[in-house]
Amino acid sequence: MSLTKKIIIFMVVGAIVGIAINYFGYNKTPFVETYLTGGLFKVVGKLFLNALRMMVVPLVFVSLFCGAAALREPSQLGKLGGKTLLFYLFTTAIALTIAISMAYLINPGLGFDIPNDYPKYVAKEAPSFVDVLINMVPTNPIKAMAQGNMLQIIVFSILLGLAATMAGKPGEKIIDFMQNINDVVMKLVHIIMEFAPYAVFALIAIVFADLGAKAIGDLAKYFFTVMLVLMIHAFIVYPTLLSVFGKINPITFLKKIQTAVVFAFGSASSNATIPVTLRTVTKRMGVDKSVASFTIPFGATINMDGTAIMQGVATVFIAQAFGFDLTLAQLGTVVLMATMASIGTAGVPGVGLLMLAGVLEQVGLPVEAIGIILGIDRLLDMTRTAVNITGDAAVTCIVAKSAGKLDEEVFNDPEAGIIEE
Ligand code: ASP
Repeated sequence: MSLTKKIIIFMVVGAIVGIAINYFGYNKTPFVETYLTGGLFKVVGKLFLNALRMMVVPLVFVSLFCGAAALREPSQLGKLGGKTLLFYLFTTAIALTIAISMAYLINPGLGFDIPNDYPKYVAKEAPSFVDVLINMVPTNPIKAMAQGNMLQIIVFSILLGLAATMAGKPGEKIIDFMQNINDVVMKLVHIIMEFAPYAVFALIAIVFADLGAKAIGDLAKYFFTVMLVLMIHAFIVYPTLLSVFGKINPITFLKKIQTAVVFAFGSASSNATIPVTLRTVTKRMGVDKSVASFTIPFGATINMDGTAIMQGVATVFIAQAFGFDLTLAQLGTVVLMATMASIGTAGVPGVGLLMLAGVLEQVGLPVEAIGIILGIDRLLDMTRTAVNITGDAAVTCIVAKSAGKLDEEVFNDPEAGIIEE
């Protein structure tokens, strides 16, 4: 059996166990809280997530260093970067347009009774776009790595990789050394991935144990609108873009992205999923490392179509619930702000909601209303993260194909890079 199949089975069993715990009210019993959801499940799930996150910084650093070194020319890197950025922005704009249109078709907030006692959300200060730009170049690369600042690590690794190609003999030695490290780090990723079924079981059981079907209740219309648009984006928009711009078989793509999708769903973090996404696009889909090592971490940091979808629907939902009429110009602002918000956000759980505050503020909607949707956000967060990384992988394939860096033999081989159990 392939690892992905095993993970999916464990995931479903985890969901059933979680729902059962919740249904019978066991989630409130001290035994379950202390020894299961707050004990064994938590330990297994978090250990695994920590192990994956442990790999992110070393992997991004060495693979980007090698990637930049393999591209050699800064101009080639510039072209690649420009095209990738453009596609990332384009897919986010499409995501938002569909989200807002569908929200106005379904009207999730019309007739919604705002509860008096909902937890009021207090907005935190988000960094300005200018600060994000200035901070792209780290003053201290070790600090950037220690803090896991992805954009700074990306910039430093690329510069160092390019310098290595220009430094003659010493550069060659370092590149060779880093390539060896890269292989070792990838091996460790592979080993960690083998533990995924148990961890995903535990993580999903925890989520469902304290969520349950009841929680969605009045918010069902909002919840399902977000879900519907996420599905449209994953199963219609990306496949169309893959066929039109990449002349790539979208069915093969959707089959192969599954592994990364289950990791993203289980972890709710694009960032923690980087090692798996990177492995999936290079080993399973045949994208050259020189492209993927840049586009995947970059995408996990700035490209969040799923997050933008939630923000678009949530903005319309809150406007309708509070009786605000958004003008066309304000909707334009929502598209712009949510696109910017997704650029400035790191791929960790729950950040999408935090960034929603900035979007609401810009169009004069009450920021504390985020509290209304906070309770049901976890499941949406997991699903939108899966869409976020699918977008990163789709754009990666399109860009790689256009640069002649997609090995179609690997892409079309159903067995390529598969992990057997
Ligand atoms: N959890 C999402 C991600 O990591 C971000 C978010 O929407 O909260 O991609």
